Amino acid sequence: MPGTGAAPRYIGRFAPSPTGPLHAGSLVAALASWLDARAHDGRWLVRIEDVDRPRCPPGTAELILGQLAACGLEPDEAPWWQSARGLAYQAALQRLVDAGRAYPCGCTRSDIDAAWAARGVTHRRHAERVYPGTCRGGLHGKPARAWRFRAESVVSWHDRRLGAQQQDVGREVGDFVLRRADGLWAYQLAVVVDDAEQGVTHVVRGEDLADNTARQILLQRALGVATPSYLHTPLVLAADGHKLSKQNSARALDLRDPLAALRAAAAVLGLADTAAPRDTAQWLAAAVPAWSGIIAGFAHRSP
Ligand code: GLU
Repeated sequence: MPGTGAAPRYIGRFAPSPTGPLHAGSLVAALASWLDARAHDGRWLVRIEDVDRPRCPPGTAELILGQLAACGLEPDEAPWWQSARGLAYQAALQRLVDAGRAYPCGCTRSDIDAAWAARGVTHRRHAERVYPGTCRGGLHGKPARAWRFRAESVVSWHDRRLGAQQQDVGREVGDFVLRRADGLWAYQLAVVVDDAEQGVTHVVRGEDLADNTARQILLQRALGVATPSYLHTPLVLAADGHKLSKQNSARALDLRDPLAALRAAAAVLGLADTAAPRDTAQWLAAAVPAWSGIIAGFAHRSP
């Protein structure tokens, strides 16, 4: 809002990890976040989440930006790259350490499994291990490997589409990693620091990420930054019923026909198709009011 000095009411973002090109599922999140920003007269940012550099093949981020542009989804500012943001993440970690909220951990994966086995528990949550808190009281002579966040609370939050959500982070996740043993920054810390610094007010992303929200809210509270509003979009399922992901080698979007790709993404979001548009720009313009109708329907689910 040039001239007013007021912070924009709405800043949204699409934050792809460039581990592979966009696929049909990631376009749904990109489109929904773009539509939501436009429907609120807001700004739309793109952030390249390349903290896990070894998993990001060179050129993939540029490919993604090209795919977005082919669909008419152009960010309002130059994208941020998380690989250039290490100092900001380091400063945030230091604040958490100073506040007694983060601590070094010397456990390997097998240490964690052994700690649970000693308590007669063999459960695993997704592929992740719930951290049993072994190093909370100190490293006991082990060298520090990772840094963890002291996660004790039950977090309740509201998702604009999914409604009331709750997670007992301490029990269901445990003290989670902020900086990994290999020195890489963890997604949870990077996303919270960047959303805050970019002034993101609304997060719209795929439902597969909903499970991270409680951890991110805990970090926002510990760092004293605002919690954005959240909306998690439906997932695109592969023919076998599993989530479409880069891991199960979802095919990159075929952008010889960007309109067809946009229409398929819109169908997942429940948007009715608009009559024969000339091009992506015309299609997108017509989709904005249609999205407003969809979110008005979500609002009825509010508590
Ligand atoms: N970089 C994450 C991903 O591609 C998304 C992060 C987010 O939207 O919060 O899965």
